[in-house]
Amino acid sequence: MQTVNSIDFKNKRALVRVDFNVPFDKEFRITDDTRIKAALPTIEKILSDGGSVVLMSHLGRPLKKLKEDGSIDKEKFSLKHVVGHLAELLNREVAFAEDCIGGQTEKLTNALQPGQVLLLENTRFHKEEEKGEEGFALKLAQHGDVYVNDAFGSAHRAHASTTIVAKFFAADSRCAGFLMAGEVENAERVLHNAEHPFTAILGGAKVSDKILIIENLLNIANTIIIGGGMAYTFFKAQGGNVGTSLVEEDKLELANEILKRAKEKGVHLLLPIDSVIADKFDKDAHTQLAENKNIPDGWMGLDIGHDAIKAFEDVIKDSKTILWNGPMGVFEMEKFQNGTKSIAVAVAHATKNGAFSLVGGGDSVAAINQFQLADQVSFVSTGGGALLEFFEGKELPGVAALK
Ligand code: AMP
Repeated sequence: MQTVNSIDFKNKRALVRVDFNVPFDKEFRITDDTRIKAALPTIEKILSDGGSVVLMSHLGRPLKKLKEDGSIDKEKFSLKHVVGHLAELLNREVAFAEDCIGGQTEKLTNALQPGQVLLLENTRFHKEEEKGEEGFALKLAQHGDVYVNDAFGSAHRAHASTTIVAKFFAADSRCAGFLMAGEVENAERVLHNAEHPFTAILGGAKVSDKILIIENLLNIANTIIIGGGMAYTFFKAQGGNVGTSLVEEDKLELANEILKRAKEKGVHLLLPIDSVIADKFDKDAHTQLAENKNIPDGWMGLDIGHDAIKAFEDVIKDSKTILWNGPMGVFEMEKFQNGTKSIAVAVAHATKNGAFSLVGGGDSVAAINQFQLADQVSFVSTGGGALLEFFEGKELPGVAALK
């Protein structure tokens, strides 16, 4: 896969797919600009070569959240709210096109001069975007001489702007931006070139979201640690009493099947021995410790317990490769954050001692940021769904299209 480093953008218009799907407050102030900042190195490289930049992105799901009269909420989902902050970050003017396709927008992109930046309106204002329609992708392709994809977080979607548009550019005129290239390189290192012992730590709410990744990791990891809400389905499946903890009743058989397959493949599947249990799902709940196979009625496990932490730490410290996706408990509430925090610290220690650690998936990234340990792991991925699909063993269409 070619990257922006191998292209000289002098006098070229780069059509760059970025992920500017950022959160706003009610006054349309950006509350987290991580995704915008992540795209800056690619934009700056193109500009410093003497090229111009046409940026395109989606923002939210405008076609799923229509106004009461059935029309698109073009104010709420407009990328115009990003222009001011982007201009500040780039320290230069950013122009805006009110539609991502069409004659008016082509006039603007054709007139771009080296050093100029233009942001196109939300690609998802057109239903053709998510359908990956070729005719629509061809219209997008008119805006650039080179196509750059720097939106790893959308690389699992075969949408027009993330995948289909690439086919209208010759192989030497399409490439990955720095963010995309870094994500792919680090994820491939874990998936294909992991040093062993390789430990995968999986958490979060539901087993059903993580089945495919567990199945694939059974082929490559030495140990799979399972924490968070998903652990209780495994305990229930084995006949334990898990009180009112989160359980997916229709996944009990599957949980047993996973345990069986792990045994057959010689993979150490490590479940938390104990939990911090609570009498309600509340930050002020009463809490106590309990063994996971024996949680009293009316109580629910909301974090892993001390013995579980100790057992997980022991495995993490001897690991050479660590993949972490999903929190160990309801880390958003202080009473139930100790498990996730302890695992974050353990991953940071192992990294200091030479392990390669990749943390990815929305909530584990939020957790590692909350505990201010993001700079103490090897790589923090920006791709939630895309990273999951990568580790499920699927080829990401957005990545494949660049090759
Ligand atoms: P996911 O998006 O599947 O990674 O799930 C993340 C969410 O799982 C977080 O919001 C956590 O609060 C939640 N979670 C983690 N552990 C538990 C648990 N034991 N019970 C209920 N929710 C949990």
